[in-house]
Amino acid sequence: MEDFQKKTCVRFVPHVGQPDFLSIQSKLGCWSTVGRDGGQQVVSLLTSSCVDHGVIQHELLHALGIHHKHTRTDRDQYDRINWENVPAASSSNFQKAHTNNLNTPYDYSSVLHYGR
Ligand SMILES: [Zn+2]
Repeated sequence: MEDFQKKTCVRFVPHVGQPDFLSIQSKLGCWSTVGRDGGQQVVSLLTSSCVDHGVIQHELLHALGIHHKHTRTDRDQYDRINWENVPAASSSNFQKAHTNNLNTPYDYSSVLHYGR
C-alpha cells in the first residue's frame, strides 16, 4: 500500500464507516474482484501463500479495477494462449476484458501478467 502511495495518486486509508471498503482476509487462495463491488469487498490473501509483495499488489490492483495484462484487447499481438493447457475452470482468467488498456504499453513484467 505504501508503494501505491509513493508512485500513484491512490491512497488507502483506514475504514471509518465509508460505505464501500476493502476487507483484507485470509480466505482460500489469493483473489479479488475487479473494481468496486460496493459495500464490504473482500480481498483474499491466504496467509500461508499470498502474503508476498507482488501478490498483494496484484490483488489490490484488481480491487482498483485493473484486469490481468494477458486479457487486454491487444494481447494477441503479444501473447499466444495455449487453450489446450487451460483448465475449463480457469478459462475466465484468459478471456479478453473490454477495456481501453488505460492507454498504456503492454508490460510482460507487470505483476498482473501471468508467467509463461
Ligand atoms: Zn489476478
